[in-house]
Amino acid sequence: MKRSILIAGILVTNALLVQAQQSAKPEDTEVWTPVPAKVSPAKVYGGAPSDAIVLFDGKDLDQWVNSGDAASAKKWKLADGIMTVDKAVGDLQTKEKFMDFQLHIEYRIPENITGSGQGRGNSGIFLAALPWGAGGYELQVLDNYDNKTYVNGQAGSLYKQSPPMVNACLKPGEWQTYDIAWTAPRFNEDGSLRSPAVATVFYNGILVQNATILKGDTPYIGQPTYRKHGASPIKLQSHGDKSEPISYRNIWLRKL
Ligand code: MG
Repeated sequence: MKRSILIAGILVTNALLVQAQQSAKPEDTEVWTPVPAKVSPAKVYGGAPSDAIVLFDGKDLDQWVNSGDAASAKKWKLADGIMTVDKAVGDLQTKEKFMDFQLHIEYRIPENITGSGQGRGNSGIFLAALPWGAGGYELQVLDNYDNKTYVNGQAGSLYKQSPPMVNACLKPGEWQTYDIAWTAPRFNEDGSLRSPAVATVFYNGILVQNATILKGDTPYIGQPTYRKHGASPIKLQSHGDKSEPISYRNIWLRKL
């Protein structure tokens, strides 16, 4: 008896749902505002769209400061529209601080690169530079066209946390691209983590990090940790290895 009442109840409920669906209109689920802003894409692949902040277009290093000493005028070499790491100068970072962004950046490993493992064209992009610990969250730059190293430290890795899904390296001497979507971590008043950092990375147009959730910063030794911070500069690494310095060009960002 109870069973038949239950079945009857389900049938009535289903009938009501079907009726509601039939009376619904397409307009019920249309959203018209806010209207997304119009942005003009670049005419060439990798070019800055109309709403981008240009961080480096080959003309000057005005958007960059020395990470070790912001007052220092010492920056990297600028010639022929590209900037080349100067290991005597150290890391460079953006003057401006950012939270969430889309970043485009291009780099070239010298054709005559020497060295092996982590000592072959090592640099890196710190998606948020921090003045403590590991110095931030590093997307690794390294020559891994034909160079073995630990996979969570090869090009396209979020250093010591997440290997790239594939090896998309081009040969030394060729320009390579990173297109990154970065969501900065958020913290509570008491310093505890509210939401972690998330990175999506296309390497030479190929997806290598798909909404990867970071466990914290990216130290060379030890485990990742989170420590409260807000908007941060983007930093380019001048690595202490002995191999020939790499170059960067065409760097732009869109705030999200
Ligand atoms: Mg590095």
